[in-house]
Amino acid sequence: MKFKTLAKFLNKIENTPSRLEMTAVLADLFKQSQKDEIDKVCYLSLGRLAPKYEGIEFNLAEKMMVRIIARSTKFEEKEVLAAFKEIGDLGDVIKRFKKTKDDFNLSVSDVFEMLFKIAQDSGTGSQERKIKKMAELLEKLDSLSAKYIARIPVNRLRLGFSDMTVLDALSWMENQDKSLRPELERAFNVLADVGKIAFVFKTKGIKGIKKIKSEVGIPIRAALAERLKKPEEILEKMDGQCALEPKMDGFRCQIHFDRSKKFKLKDETNLSLFENKEKYFVRIFSRNLDNTTHMFPEIIKAVQKLKVDNAILDGEAIAFDPQTKKFLSFQETVQRKRKHGILEKAIEVPLKVFVFDILYLNNKPLLNMTFKQRRTLLEKILNKSKGEEKAIILTRQIIVKKPNEFNQFFEKVVSEELEGLMAKKLDAVYQAGNRNFNWVKYKVGMQSDLADTIDCVVMGYYKGKGKRTNFGIGAFLVGIVDKNKFLTVSKIGIGLTDKQWREIHKRCQKLKTYKKPKEYQVNKNINPDVWCKPGLIVEIEADTITRSPIHTAKLALRFPRLKRFRDDKSLNETTKKNELERLLKS
Ligand code: AMP
Repeated sequence: MKFKTLAKFLNKIENTPSRLEMTAVLADLFKQSQKDEIDKVCYLSLGRLAPKYEGIEFNLAEKMMVRIIARSTKFEEKEVLAAFKEIGDLGDVIKRFKKTKDDFNLSVSDVFEMLFKIAQDSGTGSQERKIKKMAELLEKLDSLSAKYIARIPVNRLRLGFSDMTVLDALSWMENQDKSLRPELERAFNVLADVGKIAFVFKTKGIKGIKKIKSEVGIPIRAALAERLKKPEEILEKMDGQCALEPKMDGFRCQIHFDRSKKFKLKDETNLSLFENKEKYFVRIFSRNLDNTTHMFPEIIKAVQKLKVDNAILDGEAIAFDPQTKKFLSFQETVQRKRKHGILEKAIEVPLKVFVFDILYLNNKPLLNMTFKQRRTLLEKILNKSKGEEKAIILTRQIIVKKPNEFNQFFEKVVSEELEGLMAKKLDAVYQAGNRNFNWVKYKVGMQSDLADTIDCVVMGYYKGKGKRTNFGIGAFLVGIVDKNKFLTVSKIGIGLTDKQWREIHKRCQKLKTYKKPKEYQVNKNINPDVWCKPGLIVEIEADTITRSPIHTAKLALRFPRLKRFRDDKSLNETTKKNELERLLKS
C-alpha cells in the first residue's frame, strides 16, 4: 500500500464522527492492506511504531518538530512557530506550508522503516540526525501524508480510537459486523500486541486467532477485582470457600523471565548490580501494560536465580524501610516511579515483590488452569528457590469457608496496616483483561455502613515512624468501659491531620503512666509503647464493627477515624458494649 493511500484513510477516519462508520473505514483499510504490512498499518493508525510497551519513542519535542517543519518546507522557523501558536496542531501547520508533491511513491513499509530508524537513533548527535532525517522524509511526502507523519513523533495523532476499535474493525473486515470481536479480544487479552493479532488474523483467519497463546515478553492483560461489602456475599459468590491474601498497596508487576534469551539493559548503571554475571531476559509490565522493567533493578536481579526455563509471574511490588523492615505506604512506594537516579533510589527505598500468581511456566501458558493448580506450581518454584530471591516473596494465603475466619484474617491484615485483602475463587481460570468476581477486593473503608459514631477512651499510644516521628505518636489504642474494666476496640493510626496528631500527643503526655493501669484488659500483642491513664475521651467514626480475636471487647472498629475530642463527656459515657453489639447486628 502506498503511504498516500493510508493518509487518505486516516483523513477519512478523522472526519468521521460516528464510531461505527469509523470502524467500517478502518475495516476497509485493513482489507486493502497486505499481509506483511497490516501490523505496521495498525501501529501507524494508532500513532505508534510498535506496541506502547516496546517503548519506541521519538523523543522529539514540539519545538523540534517546528524546526523540522521549517527545514522541510524552507520556511522561516519563526513563521512556522507563529502558525503553530495560531493553529495548535503540527499536522495542520505542515499542511499549510507544504506544496503538494504527487510524484513520491513511498510505500507504508518504506515510511515505517524510515520512521523506525529515526526513532531508534540514540547517542551523541542523535537529535541533530533525527531532525535532518525527519525533515528529509517530510520533504518527500505529499501534504496530507506529511500532516499525519508530523503528528506521530509528538504523540499527537489521536484519531479517537483505541486497540479495541482495531479489534472491532478486524471483525468487520471479515464479517461486516462485530461478531468476531469476543474471539479477537480473548486473543488480545492473552497476547496484548494488536499488530500481532491483526497479522495472525490476516494470514490465518479466525482459526489462527483461536490458537493464540501467551508468549514470554508480550504482556497479558491484567485480571482485575470486583468489590463486595460482606464476607458472606463473597463466600457465596465463590461457592462457599475462597483463598484470602493480603492486598498490598504498591505497583502491579507482571514479570516475564526467559533463560534462553539474553537481556539488554538500557540503563547502564543497573549493570553494576550483576557483578558481571549472566543476565537473562526479564521484562516487567505495569497494570496498564507499560514496560516498567528499568524501575526495578532488584527484581531483575532476583528473578535471574529462579530455577525455571521461563515464566510469567503476577505480583505487587511494595517498598520497605531497610532499617525497620516495615512495608511502606503507596505514597512512599511511589517514589520508585522514576526515569533517572533509579539505582540510588533503589538503595534508599528498596522494594519487594509479592507474587500472587503464575501465568506461564517452562513454555506452557497456565491461564486455563485453576487458581488452586497455579498456586501449587507457584509455591513449588518459589519455595525451591527459597532464600535466594530476597526481593521475591510468595504472597501469604489462607483458605476460608466461614465469615468469622474471613473477618479474623481481615482484622489481622488491618492490624498490620495493610490495605485490606483479596478474596480469590479457587477453581477460577485466570481471566486476562477482565474485572469479575473471581477476585474480590475487601479493603479498609469499603464497608461503610456504620451510621453512628463511638465514644472511646484513649488507653495508650505507639511511637511514630517515618514522618510521624515528628509528632512523637504514630497510632493510639482506644477502648470502651465495661463495668469496671477497660476493653480495647481499636488501634487508630490513620486519618488524622497533622494538627490532630500534635494535639493528641500533647493531651496524652498529661496522662502518661509507666505501668499499665490495672483495670485495663489488653491483648499483649498490641500493648502500646506508652500507657495513658483513663481520662481522654475521643469520638471515633468507623465504617463497621466486626468480631475480633485481638481486641478484648471481642469487637473491633474497622477503618476508625478520629472525629473530635469529647472533653464534655465523662468516662461513664463511653459507648457501651451492648450498643456496639447492636451496631454489629444492624
Ligand atoms: P484495585 O487497584 O483496588 O482495583 O485492586 C486491584 C489491585 O490490587 C491489583 O491490580 C493489584 O495491583 C493489587 N493487589 C495487591 N495485592 C494483591 C493480591 N494479593 N492479589 C491480587 N492483586 C493484588
